[in-house]
Amino acid sequence: MPELPEVEIISQGLDKSLKGKSFSKIQILDKNRFIGNPNILLNKKIKKVYRRAKLVIFEFEKDIYLLAHLKMTGQFIYIDGKKKIAGGHISPELVEKVPNKHTRIIFFINKDQILYFNDLIRYSWLKIVNKKEIDNILKKEFGVEPLSEEFNIEVLKEIIKKSKNSNIKRVLTDQKKIAGIGNIYSDEILYNAGINPQRKAQSLTAQEIKRLFNSIKKVLLFAIEKEGSSIKNYVNSEGKRGTMQDYLKIYGKDGEKCKKCGSIIKKIKLNGRGTHFCPNCQPIK
Ligand SMILES: [Zn+2]
Repeated sequence: MPELPEVEIISQGLDKSLKGKSFSKIQILDKNRFIGNPNILLNKKIKKVYRRAKLVIFEFEKDIYLLAHLKMTGQFIYIDGKKKIAGGHISPELVEKVPNKHTRIIFFINKDQILYFNDLIRYSWLKIVNKKEIDNILKKEFGVEPLSEEFNIEVLKEIIKKSKNSNIKRVLTDQKKIAGIGNIYSDEILYNAGINPQRKAQSLTAQEIKRLFNSIKKVLLFAIEKEGSSIKNYVNSEGKRGTMQDYLKIYGKDGEKCKKCGSIIKKIKLNGRGTHFCPNCQPIK
């Protein structure tokens, strides 16, 4: 599933291509992927496309919003004449030819400019909401944005204080606490901070919390700079794979030597997810 950096890149790409345009026709091929009356969006100007948590948000004039959660295999492909941009799930048949059997929704701007939404395994959803509804959803479902100014060390301390018995990895990946961090980037962040993912969040010292805070910002910003990672399913908005996977230091590296100390990187199951760490750099204590 794309995480914060990947969704950020897709959203930026769509914003560049769609801002100021509007849809003249919307064809829903899979009703289960779309919540709301698509006619509401017709001929309304797209003011911007942006990201919140792992959601792509299209903001239309008159306070109308379209939320898109790509989940595992959702994908946007935008065709503009001969130019094509794509973001989300990567697979040659999904990227190369549209529409295809995985195309779920088609948004027509005009005959040359068309936005396709594809999804292979169909967990994704798109939903039309108004201002009140989007404010509610974002407030209820998602915690603080880790790259916003709102997120500071005091906020992180408070989140950890309220984390009860959770391990620190669970806290980082809990969307209601901090939005946008998933399995890959939580492993990378904890490795960067030298903190074992199994540690009880509340056992972290003030110094460790400070390190963790800095690592969250550093790792996510770096991933955006490298246009996200494409371990499995992700392509950036230009249809190319992101390059972040070349820079991952711990995720998927089990059995390899840690670049900091030479110890063998371990993989365990934690909170039901494959979790990677260096037993030497990230001791349990
Ligand atoms: Zn190490």
